[in-house]
Amino acid sequence: MIIAMKSDATEQQVNDICAEISRYGYTPHLIRGEERVVIGAVGRGDNKDHLQNLRSSPGVADVVPILQPYKIVSRELKTQKSIVRVGDLEIGGTEFIVMAGPCSVETREQLIETAEAVKQSGAQVLRGGAYKPRTSPYDFQGLEVEGLKLLAEARERTGLKIVTEVVTSDETEVVAEYADILQVGARNMQNFALLKKLGRVGKPVLLKRGMSSTIKELLLSAEYIASHGNDQVILCERGIRTFETATRNTLDLAAVPVLNELSHLPVVVDPSHGTGRRSLIRPVSKAAVAIGADGLIIEVHPRPQEAWSDGPQSLTPHDFAELMKELRDYVRMESRYINSCDRDQQPGIDGGLAINIDSIHTKPTKEQASYDF
Ligand code: PEP
Ligand code: MN
Repeated sequence: MIIAMKSDATEQQVNDICAEISRYGYTPHLIRGEERVVIGAVGRGDNKDHLQNLRSSPGVADVVPILQPYKIVSRELKTQKSIVRVGDLEIGGTEFIVMAGPCSVETREQLIETAEAVKQSGAQVLRGGAYKPRTSPYDFQGLEVEGLKLLAEARERTGLKIVTEVVTSDETEVVAEYADILQVGARNMQNFALLKKLGRVGKPVLLKRGMSSTIKELLLSAEYIASHGNDQVILCERGIRTFETATRNTLDLAAVPVLNELSHLPVVVDPSHGTGRRSLIRPVSKAAVAIGADGLIIEVHPRPQEAWSDGPQSLTPHDFAELMKELRDYVRMESRYINSCDRDQQPGIDGGLAINIDSIHTKPTKEQASYDF
């Protein structure tokens, strides 16, 4: 249920409503817009009628149900797009974010060489798996803590933020100690114990879509993390399994605008796993920009033919640099920029966020309400 407060509601009235919501067995989730506060009452409380009755409480403007099964992550609760902050980096704002790096952290030389190259080309985040969920038990499983330390060293040298995968809930603490963003891989999207644990880590999570998961399931997995205390979630479309064999997965690009209609969370696209083919990264990345993604996550390896995992879909640093050059124009056409140097050169973008923070509505639009899963 959404409880929209009046624009002149006092702090005391907001607190009183939150206390009432808790008393009925729901969890209050506060969203502060510039004009007013909206409170989501989520959970399995015992009486929706009690919540409806809050309509007559002091300071309350309206009480409306949230129609979708996911609540905190839905646009119904928060119509304005969310920004996930990673230090000074904002994901989901006007800056277009590129995360790049090897599939797996292999050696210091490989990682540092890649990190310096992708930084040079304008990437803001370094990717690299230290814990690898591999289909075959005989494949390279990752350098584990040693890999995390190398990622931290690469961050130190380049200033790039680090995104890396956490494979089991037991490793959550150690990965959170080193990473800036914790990645949940496609194979773990419905590992509910892991999702609940990530709700308590206090660091942003990059949640990849499971290879046979629907958009609704992806959003419910995001809701797991958010409802356990962490709403710093970035969604990632990385392709789903279909009858098609020409590409490794079928990248569902339409999922991007669907997710943008249904959720306020940032959305990034992974063209590497989405296609499995180096030659497709460039056209698909451009399409991702045009279709409204907030960023990309791309595999880059200095010598893809020697990569310990995912070589065929990895770009060389040279190809990545060319791609980034080309992407800048596409990003600009979407009134976004790739890094602050670009922003400062750009007419029409004042360096602030181009998002209207005031636009908190309490009712879903007709289009949002009509997704019938
Ligand atoms: C990866 O990012 O290297 C990876 C294993 O991705 P996914 O979980 O999407 O397969
Ligand atoms: Mn990979």
